[in-house]
Amino acid sequence: MATAINRAKLRSLRHREEQQFLASHPNSAALYARAKNSLLGGVPMNWMKKWPGPFPVFLAHAKGAHFTDVDNHDYIDLCLGDTGAMTGHSPEIVAEAVAHRARQGLTTMLPTEDALWVGEDLQKRFGLPFWQFTLTATDANRFAIRIAREITQRSKVLVFNYCYHGTVDETFATLERETVVSRRGNIGPPVNPAETTRIVEFNDLNALEAALKHNDVACVLGEPAMTNVGIILPDTDYWPAARELCRRYGSLFLADETHTICAGPGGCTAEWQLDPDILVFGKAIGSGIPGATFGLSEEVAQRISARIQLEDCDVGGIGGTLAGNALSLAAMRATLEHLLTPESFARMIPLARNFNDGVASEIKKHKLPWNVTQLGARAEYTFTQSAPRNGRESAAASDFELERFLHLYALNRNILLTPFHNMALMCPATTPSDIDAHTKAFACALDELVS
Ligand code: PMP
Repeated sequence: MATAINRAKLRSLRHREEQQFLASHPNSAALYARAKNSLLGGVPMNWMKKWPGPFPVFLAHAKGAHFTDVDNHDYIDLCLGDTGAMTGHSPEIVAEAVAHRARQGLTTMLPTEDALWVGEDLQKRFGLPFWQFTLTATDANRFAIRIAREITQRSKVLVFNYCYHGTVDETFATLERETVVSRRGNIGPPVNPAETTRIVEFNDLNALEAALKHNDVACVLGEPAMTNVGIILPDTDYWPAARELCRRYGSLFLADETHTICAGPGGCTAEWQLDPDILVFGKAIGSGIPGATFGLSEEVAQRISARIQLEDCDVGGIGGTLAGNALSLAAMRATLEHLLTPESFARMIPLARNFNDGVASEIKKHKLPWNVTQLGARAEYTFTQSAPRNGRESAAASDFELERFLHLYALNRNILLTPFHNMALMCPATTPSDIDAHTKAFACALDELVS
C-alpha cells in the first residue's frame, strides 16, 4: 500500500522549517524588508517570490556548484539558475573571456570573429547550417515563430499541453476539455490564445495529426523531452513519427533545446537524430551572460532570406539592439569551446544518475507513490506512481504545498532546488558528495513526513 501524506503533519513541519529559516537568515530578511520599498513585491522579478521560504535568500557570491548567501551560508546549488549556470557559476575561462572583451568594446552593432566561431561550432553540434543570435531563449523562440509564420503563411503555433518556452504569448495556454484556454496565471494575454495556438498532449500522435490536419499550423514548437512540468520522455517512436507528420502537413518542427541540452553536447537533437527545421538554444550557451541562438535548416534559411528585403531588415520584428553583441558572443565561444564538451557531460550525467538512484531508493523505502526521471545531466521527481507521459498527467500530480516543504527542508540544509519544479541539474563542478548530501536531506525529510 502506498503511503499517504498526512497534511496536518506536513503543515506543522513546514511551520517549524519556516521558523528555522527566519532565525538563520537575518541579513536576507533585512534586505528583503528594504527591497519592498523600491522593488515591486520586494524582488527584482516577480517569479523570485516563488522560492520556498518567506523571502528569497540574497546572494553574496557563487562559484562552481556552490554559492554563499549574505548570511554566510554555503549552499550546494542544484538549481544552477534553472540551467543558466549549467556550466557552473562563473567558470574561470568565461570570466576571463568576458573580462577581456569588456575592455575591448561591449556592443557596437558590428560582428566579431567570435560569432563565426560559434556559428561553426553550432553547425557541428546540431547539424543545422545557419545561425542567428538573440539575448534570451524567449526571443529566439519568438523570432523562430515569426520566421515559421512568414514562410508558411500560416497563423497557428502548435505546442504541447503545459509546455514552457519563455514569455512567448502563443505558449501561455492549456487544454481544457479539448478547448485551448489561457493558462492559469497568464498576465494580460494580448488575444484569446485559441486564436494563435493549437495544443495537444505530448506522446499522442493521433492528436497531433488531427491538429495538423487543419493545415493552419506554421510550426510545432516543442522540447524534445518536456522539462517544465516534470521530465516527460518521448515514447521511442514518437519523434520519428511526429517529424513525419510535420512534413506531411507542411508544418515546421521547431526544437527548443534550452533545457534538453542536458542530454549531451548536441542536446536531444544529436542524441536522438531529430532533424528539426529550426532549433533554439539559450541560457547555458553563455554560462549566464545573456545570449541565445536559433539555427535554421538550409531550406528554411533560403525561404526566409528570399522574403527579407534589405531596406526593411531592421524593422521586421526580428532583432534587438543588443542581439549578437560582442560580449555575449565571447562568452558563448568560451562556453562552447571549453565547457559544454563531451568530457563535461561524461562527468555530469553519472552524477544525475546518482541523484536519480538515491531519490528512487528513498521513495521506494518510504513506499511513496512518487517517481524520479533522469534526462542526461538533469533529474526530477514527481508525485505520481509512474512517470507521466504527458503534461496533463504531470500537472495533475503537482502538489504545491508538498513541493514547498521539500524545497524549504532542503534549503535549510544548504541545498538549493529550482523554485519551479523538483529538478536537480549537475554542472561540471558538482561532486558525488554534493549529491549524497541531497539524498541524505531528502531521506530525512521523508522520515519525518511519513513516520
Ligand atoms: N525554453 C525553455 C525550454 C525554457 O525552459 C525557458 C525558460 N525556463 C525558455 C525557453 C526561456 O528562457 P529565457 O527565460 O531565458 O528567455
